[in-house]
Amino acid sequence: MKKLVGILFVITLFFSCKNEETITYDLVIENGNVIDIVSGNINKQTIFITEGRIVKLSDEGDNKPFESEITLDGTDKYILPGFWDNHVHFRGGDSLIQANKDFLKLFIMNGITTVRDAGGDLTSSVMDWKQQIDDKALVGPTIFSSGPKIDGKNATWAGSLVVEKEEDIAVALDSLEAINVDFVKLYDSRISGELYLKTIQEATKRGMITSGHMPFTVELDEALYAGIGAIEHLYYVLKGCSTEEKEITEAIKNREYGFWSSMEKLIATYEDSTAQNTFSSLKEHNTYVVPTLHIGNVLSYLDEVNHENDTYLKLMPSGIVKTYEGRIRSSYNSSEEARQNRKELNTFFKSLEKSLSDAEVKLLAGSDSGAFNSYTYPGISLHKELEVMANTGISNLKALQNSAYNGAHFLKKESDYGTVEVGKISDLIILNSNPLNNIKNTRDINFVIKGNEVFNPEIMAMNIDCPDCIK
Ligand SMILES: [Zn+2]
Repeated sequence: MKKLVGILFVITLFFSCKNEETITYDLVIENGNVIDIVSGNINKQTIFITEGRIVKLSDEGDNKPFESEITLDGTDKYILPGFWDNHVHFRGGDSLIQANKDFLKLFIMNGITTVRDAGGDLTSSVMDWKQQIDDKALVGPTIFSSGPKIDGKNATWAGSLVVEKEEDIAVALDSLEAINVDFVKLYDSRISGELYLKTIQEATKRGMITSGHMPFTVELDEALYAGIGAIEHLYYVLKGCSTEEKEITEAIKNREYGFWSSMEKLIATYEDSTAQNTFSSLKEHNTYVVPTLHIGNVLSYLDEVNHENDTYLKLMPSGIVKTYEGRIRSSYNSSEEARQNRKELNTFFKSLEKSLSDAEVKLLAGSDSGAFNSYTYPGISLHKELEVMANTGISNLKALQNSAYNGAHFLKKESDYGTVEVGKISDLIILNSNPLNNIKNTRDINFVIKGNEVFNPEIMAMNIDCPDCIK
């Protein structure tokens, strides 16, 4: 009997070893410095990936044998979740569909494995690309899209859904639900304050996530109470930090002030205790803020900075470059005083962003890249956004959290994305140098992992095919 037990033990051992030996992974990244995006701790680990998910993480010293289709050496590399650009646009009309589609590669080349598309006029193409990317039939980032924006009649942006009376709200939201959007984006060019708030309430009631600009006839607290999920850009947060928000809102309603002309007054009446109350309110409502300061830098200095030699300009099709003209013209047509005010506002926003972050308001790193947003190129602009964040004094770790980690939480996708953990989708970035030491190291990319696929940015850059580019 003793002998039999012994034999069984050996057989069991043999089979368990055999089982372990025969596990074949799709992709293994050995001995990398894995950055814990929550704590900032760095752990030397090997990442095992199968069918586009992390199935095992082993610490240094765990030398169990394995087989793998692809094995990458992570020695001296830094690994973190693939970047999220939490504010991009695909737009510009049918003639720019291919140009927008070509942006997809630029995102991957820059380590951006997910984008949040904040509305445009190419929804059916975007939804088609989204599916093809999910099916691995097209190279590009995972797209979470709002579909068309919601606005009023004669809206600024083409393709917007019109809400000009209460009944339009249900129609608009029904149509967005029908195409399975990931969130609802509200714009402020024409929609009335009242209908804007009702739309947020109704979308929230339906369990839809919302984000948006805010008509200046609305007070920030009203949007927060209505349930807005994220405030895009800092103008609207600034409004809530003024001791005279009520008076300024009244003046806007009476057309004594306009959007831009109220900015100076808002800065002059910014008060720290009011701001802190607003920050508490943002936190209480779990409302995210998307500062988009890189584009702020670019647009505020269009009159001073010559972009002709931008490396990325050479990758933009001429149709896209043509869309840059509107903002350039409007900068040159502005008075010297208006240009100066814009620069001051831009500088003020940097300190506001730091204060928001210090107060633990959740921020989202988003570039606002896309057609019409002059010289704010898809891909690289997210890295510039992270750099601007770090330059305000926000720690590199927090800046990095504002990309994939907060992005995933905002869209309630955190069970799949945002950290390097077993069970998560294996969208990863392998960097040659540590981004916690220098935020510019986010651009020092070794490999981009999207599910099971491995992309080498250097090779991708060499193969960018853009016959229509200016060169
Ligand atoms: Zn935008």
